Amino acid sequence: MSKIYFDHSATTPVHPDVAQEMFRYVTGIFGNPSSIHSFGREAKRAVNGARAKVAVSIGAKKEEVVFTSGGTESDHLAIKGAAYANRKKGNHIITTAVEHHAVLHTCKALEKEGFEITVLPVDAYGMVSPRDVADAVKDNTVLITVMHANNEVGTIQPIPEIGEIAREKGILFHTDAVQSMGKIPVNVSELKTDLLSISGHKINAPKGIGALYIKQGINWRPYNFGGGQERERRPGTENVPGIVALGKAAEIAVRNLEEENSRLTILRDKLIKGITESIDHVELCGHPIRRLPNNVNFIFEFIDGGTMLLNLDMHGVAASSGSACNTGSVDPSHVLLAMGVPRTAALGSLRLTLGRGNTEKDVDEFINMMPRIIEKLRPGASFG
Ligand code: PLP
Repeated sequence: MSKIYFDHSATTPVHPDVAQEMFRYVTGIFGNPSSIHSFGREAKRAVNGARAKVAVSIGAKKEEVVFTSGGTESDHLAIKGAAYANRKKGNHIITTAVEHHAVLHTCKALEKEGFEITVLPVDAYGMVSPRDVADAVKDNTVLITVMHANNEVGTIQPIPEIGEIAREKGILFHTDAVQSMGKIPVNVSELKTDLLSISGHKINAPKGIGALYIKQGINWRPYNFGGGQERERRPGTENVPGIVALGKAAEIAVRNLEEENSRLTILRDKLIKGITESIDHVELCGHPIRRLPNNVNFIFEFIDGGTMLLNLDMHGVAASSGSACNTGSVDPSHVLLAMGVPRTAALGSLRLTLGRGNTEKDVDEFINMMPRIIEKLRPGASFG
């Protein structure tokens, strides 16, 4: 049985060129970048080289890139750093109901510390309205955090418009670009963002490495203390192999962006057409046009998502229902609920996320097998 991996928003395999580059820093070049001897200097050069690559990939300056342990830490660092630095100015933060838990739970934690959080609603496509953002701004608003693209339904938010509102009002703006990086252009100037999170394992680098863009000159401050690494913004001995890998992966992602975007869009649209034409009572979730080129999210009525995933797994297909972090939980996705999807329908969701290794053959095989799987799980349903 051939295997099909359709879960690239959960994680991606490491690109062979990334693995090769990284390996050199696992074994041979092992120095601590803070050491003054040649071993240390070589490691430091590698970290700085990777920093330059990540900076170029998002249109930032080298000094504006801080390496972290991944998307979650980048989100924490962005939000808490902005909130604490501006505590005297105000205590109000604006976010949305469809953010990743790395953002929502950080906001919740800040609420317990006395911050006031406004969680904006989304429409049926998962889109946030810039007008709602503008209306939510108050005199004490210090931060707006809205994700670039949603990890579950792939909807791409109107980030430049929201960034413009933040800029006009003098409020810091953070966007979580963990899912958009490598799929659509991510440029900090075009997105008008002050803080931007990325994660390595979503772009064919290993897990446990990420970066945060912190615009030069903004009022942000660290809240972890230790050595002077990352200009004291994120202390701790650097994960040199991970950093080198992220640099290489970011370089590859941007180099292949246009080509990969078109290729994935074709596969995605074939998948959507094939499934919606061959199975009844199935609905596409998320925006039909403003969506990531690799994201498909269906709701199959009268189906339990968990059972569907197990059946797909038996057929060699790896997919997910809701976000990876929610797998194993019986709760319906907070994103789908925020979009107005009824609870029972939300439990029948299936997320298929494409990536570098997927081919048209994978899509054709999936379209062929899916009606039979659904028929088995949904006795009595008719297939067109
Ligand atoms: N933000 C978004 C939108 C994500 O999809 C994820 C992971 O799924 C994260 C943040 C967390 O990233 P990491 O797994 O690198 O901590």
